[in-house]
Amino acid sequence: MPNLALICFLAVGVALLWFIRANERDAQRDALIEDVLWQEQALRNEVLGRQRQLEALAHDYVRGDLSEGAFYGRAASLMSASAEVVAMALSNEYGEAVWSYPEQALEPLQRVPAAMEPVQRAGRIGLPASTPPFDYPGVGPVVAIAFPAVQGNQTRGAFVAVISLKSLLQTYVPWWIAKRYQLGFVDIERRTVAARPEQPLPDSPQSYDIAFDPPGYGLRLRAVALQGGWPVWRHALYWLLAALSGLMVWSLWVLKRHMRERLVAERALLRETNMRRAMEDSLVSGILATDREGRILHANRAFCRMVGTEPESLLGSKPPFDFWSPEAAARCEQVFAAILRGESPANGFSLRFRRRNGERFDVRLYSSPLIDGEGRHTGWVSSMTDVTELRREREALKASHERFVAVLNGLDAAVAVTDRKSGELLLSNRTFREAFRLGDDGPLCALPLRQPDAGGEWHDTIGGRWYQHHRRATLWVDQSQVWLDIATDVTERKLAIDRERQQAEKLQQTARLIAMGEIASSLAHELNQPLAAISSYSTACRNLVANGQITAEELDGALEKIAEQSRRAAAIIRGIREFVQKREPKRSPCRIGDLVDTVLSLLAAPLNRYYVRLVELRLADDVELSADRVMLEQVLFNLGKNAIEAMIDSEPGDRELTLETRLREGWLDLVVADRGPGIDPADVDKLFRPFYTTKAEGMGMGLNICRTIVEHHQGRLWVEERAGGGSRFIVSLPLGPREC
Ligand code: ADP
Repeated sequence: MPNLALICFLAVGVALLWFIRANERDAQRDALIEDVLWQEQALRNEVLGRQRQLEALAHDYVRGDLSEGAFYGRAASLMSASAEVVAMALSNEYGEAVWSYPEQALEPLQRVPAAMEPVQRAGRIGLPASTPPFDYPGVGPVVAIAFPAVQGNQTRGAFVAVISLKSLLQTYVPWWIAKRYQLGFVDIERRTVAARPEQPLPDSPQSYDIAFDPPGYGLRLRAVALQGGWPVWRHALYWLLAALSGLMVWSLWVLKRHMRERLVAERALLRETNMRRAMEDSLVSGILATDREGRILHANRAFCRMVGTEPESLLGSKPPFDFWSPEAAARCEQVFAAILRGESPANGFSLRFRRRNGERFDVRLYSSPLIDGEGRHTGWVSSMTDVTELRREREALKASHERFVAVLNGLDAAVAVTDRKSGELLLSNRTFREAFRLGDDGPLCALPLRQPDAGGEWHDTIGGRWYQHHRRATLWVDQSQVWLDIATDVTERKLAIDRERQQAEKLQQTARLIAMGEIASSLAHELNQPLAAISSYSTACRNLVANGQITAEELDGALEKIAEQSRRAAAIIRGIREFVQKREPKRSPCRIGDLVDTVLSLLAAPLNRYYVRLVELRLADDVELSADRVMLEQVLFNLGKNAIEAMIDSEPGDRELTLETRLREGWLDLVVADRGPGIDPADVDKLFRPFYTTKAEGMGMGLNICRTIVEHHQGRLWVEERAGGGSRFIVSLPLGPREC
């Protein structure tokens, strides 16, 4: 619309200018024509005036009242009164001068035949005539008019006046015409004959010419409008108008650009405002703007949600506000007074507000001055966050942390977390700090570096304590790589184990010593047999050798039997010695058949003494084990001895000791079964405990030691009820090689 209006304005302006200009031209032209007509009339009158004076001369001449002298007098007077008349003459019908003033006045005329002809014609036919313009020496362009002197029907010549066209223009054109026009005469061929000012007269739209006839043949009076001061000023006006229009167009353009910029700025402002409003609406923080007296000017949606009310009910209200908790009103008042004084701590205020439904909530409030567009301080803006949930969570977190710390500090194990890169101690419990003599911000962990997940015992040489230390690489709460060290103080346990081990060893020693005492009698009996055999064989040999009744083969056989009995006695003694010696298990390949043989040889004495029948159930193929043979012999001997002793009160016919070896899925079972009273199931667990005995002279260590030895061999020892009465002690040993 403004563009259209601008175009219309410019079009109308141009049309108006054109119209004014056309009007002006028409007016100018009208004035020109009018002026030319008037001027032509004026000049014609003058020429006609001269013609009438010639007519008077002719009249006087015809009447005979004009002498030559009178002619010269009247001619001189006329020429002095009329500057345009440059010569006067009376010519005959041939155009020759009769009288001439000044002398020879018609000579120039006579040199121009075209000019001469009308003069001759006037003299001949008696009609007034005028010449075409011609050049008169010393005067310039002239025309001549001739008036005949006619007497009756006879023509007596013609009076001629030569009129200077320049003088005619100089004399009879008034100043106001001369100021506005260039005036002059043009001939029939439109050539300028005379002009004022003397310049060629152009034939232009600004010019107008009119026939000036008579007196000239085809002579025309032409006026050309001059461009004077007025048109220049008028042009200046046009230019001024054009400049003003240009200025206006420029102003409009600037205005339009300004408006466009303003529109863009307004849109940007609107966008910004909408975005800010959206941001403000999306905030969970409440915003409250007050004036300097504390009157609420604005409350955002979040604040209204917080206090459970509408913005309209808040606007304009003054402290005390409805949302202040009555129990915290004094504090709220104090805080708002501080806000109005401009005192706002960097970490804000902690306040308790109330929702419309009476529910309480805690907020943290921050305040800052409200400054308007002119930089004036108009009030205060407070932003607040509902910290109820946060506080609850913080308290829960704190309680959880306290529980965690209490548990951590209550642990007997020392726990520490250290940064893997820097070695910085990130967390430690009280046990750790006490154990490693650290303050709360103590130096780095004193634990030795270990491979992750490797556990091991570590001796604190300064504190003299033993720790079982585990180290694991793990991720810390900030996802950094840390070591988690757990060190358990195992000093007491270690000491207890040591004590127990020493005790057990002592007991074993004692048990062996006791057993040795018991064995001593059977040893005596056992050794008695080979010794008696050796003795009887030796005696028999001596007797036979003395009698010479023995052959060398018989002697050799007898000596071999002696040697065999000696080896047996030596084996018995060695077995006893090894049995009594305190030592760790010494593994070596041992055949079960040999082992059973040894035990049976040791049990032979008690078997015989108590009339116990021996039943042997051996494997068809002997088996070899990697074991401490002497220890296993001790086990079997103990079990055998216990079985025999359990049957002391049984009927002699029922006394039966079964020794069985059997294979079972990678295990070798050695079973010692008796027909004794059996074992009360309630006592089964007690049997293997140290010092459990039902015998008056018993130590109660035998079975305990046996189980220890079997377990040393990765085996098991247990007791079962025997079908038909009695009990079965089973030693189960792994067949494959196992580490001790
Ligand atoms: P001790 O023989 O010195 O008593 P042991 O440890 O060898 O010590 O035996 C512990 C107890 O187990 C015995 O006193 C006995 O009461 C019981 N016992 C051992 N073997 C048998 C068995 N074969 N039958 C019944 N009771 C047994």
